[in-house]
Amino acid sequence: MEDLTTITAHLQRLEPGSRQLEPLGNELAALTEQVVTYAHAFLNQAEQLPGYNSNSPTHRLQTMTVGEEGRPLAELLDIIRTEVDQPGINPASGHHLGYIPGGGIYPTALGDYLAAVTNQYAGVHFAGPGAVAVENQMIDWLNKLMGFPAAATGNLTSGGSIANLIAIVTARDACGITSHRIADACIYLTAQVHHSVQKAIRIAGLGEARLRQVATDARHKMDTAHLHTLIEQDRQQGLVPFLIVASAGTTDSGAIDPLADIAAIARQHSLWLHVDAAYGGFFRLVDNLKDKMQGIEQADSITVDPHKGLFLAYGLGAVLIKDTRAMQRSHQYQANYMQDVEDSSSPSPADLSPELTKHFRGLRMWLSLHLFGLRPFRQALEEKYWLCRYFYHKVQELDFEVGPEPELSVCLYRYTKGLEEPNTFNLQLVKAIQQDGRIFVSSTTIGGIVWLRLAVLVFRTHRQIIDEYLAVLAHHRDALLAFLEQKP
Ligand SMILES: *Cc1c(COP(=O)(O)O)cnc(C)c1O
Repeated sequence: MEDLTTITAHLQRLEPGSRQLEPLGNELAALTEQVVTYAHAFLNQAEQLPGYNSNSPTHRLQTMTVGEEGRPLAELLDIIRTEVDQPGINPASGHHLGYIPGGGIYPTALGDYLAAVTNQYAGVHFAGPGAVAVENQMIDWLNKLMGFPAAATGNLTSGGSIANLIAIVTARDACGITSHRIADACIYLTAQVHHSVQKAIRIAGLGEARLRQVATDARHKMDTAHLHTLIEQDRQQGLVPFLIVASAGTTDSGAIDPLADIAAIARQHSLWLHVDAAYGGFFRLVDNLKDKMQGIEQADSITVDPHKGLFLAYGLGAVLIKDTRAMQRSHQYQANYMQDVEDSSSPSPADLSPELTKHFRGLRMWLSLHLFGLRPFRQALEEKYWLCRYFYHKVQELDFEVGPEPELSVCLYRYTKGLEEPNTFNLQLVKAIQQDGRIFVSSTTIGGIVWLRLAVLVFRTHRQIIDEYLAVLAHHRDALLAFLEQKP
């Protein structure tokens, strides 16, 4: 065994280097100032940044290795600028109109900054009662917004996918789907459900359950008569229907399933109803859109995604579950080294999710909502809705065919006039627009038909950008038509 002199010599040798992990005073100020300068420059042009950059190199990043000695922050910021923030889709840009765009309102960054600086422990009530209270306040607000009772609970997750996973695991256990019943268990969903649901079903060990694809109507919504028939058939065959997954705003078209009718069927057959409202949920904030989601309050669980419809930066989803006990039964655990963690009246986030130690992600949401108040969120969401309807009218003036009237802020459209192969043409058109890069839009295929999609959800997208896009769209459509005419 070494003597104490040796030990103190080691400590003396190591402390100065170890202290380099904590810059203070002028050094702290200088580091912060460089980052803030970078962030302000970025923010002041974010709205107008191109939506997509397909040809930025990332070789400096790829050849970089982690060394013994540190590098200057200026060098690292330069790498972030050219190799991280330029290539690919620019999610911060108001010109991002593809997939389901995200957000990035500034208080998210401020909340995350403080959460990281103080490193509050948000997993367990005993350790961080304030942090857990912040998160629970957000869960309570979300439950109220969705029309859930005050006794409902939930968890702030990293995104919608994990929220769907937690809901499906809870439904599985609450409905008693243990190993010997999985092969007979039936889950009902449409082809329009988000792929994270299928992924969650597999991860939850339900890959061998019977996935029943419920038909959709002309507006891509769940056909409830078909749902009813499928459940009855499965019942008659002695199978175990247990879960319906409905969507409140599908990714493809923004369609909202007939939630009240689906809830009635779920109740009649004692099935768990999960509603994936990752895209559409926050449109509940808009008075004249709220009723479109009527019936959502009758669900057993709901997924929402504040990093989409609440415009927060990536890294925040939420799952809401009515039956707190069921959620705890699936996720709570005891360990000897946690014996000091007292029972408290409200469950801790760690009792309701697979996570223990976690990002204090509630602070960014709490800060954003309280700093701005709800009004600007309501107005921004309603603006996105009207922008989409504006586009829906304008694109028809350009002779495009449109899909169903947009329900929220996604619009389907395609050009077909005089074309023998409209699918090929529209795929070429979306490629050309993406290559152009000013605006990013994406496409999808529904029932064999290729559609271009417009998804308005970046808080920085305003009318001028939609007008710009209409011009870009017309330009590339005309160029492609001219090119086709030239061909023999
Ligand atoms: C985005 C989305 C998801 C997945 O959420 P992530 O936050 O990307 O994990 C699930 N369902 C719908 C309807 C979505 O739009």
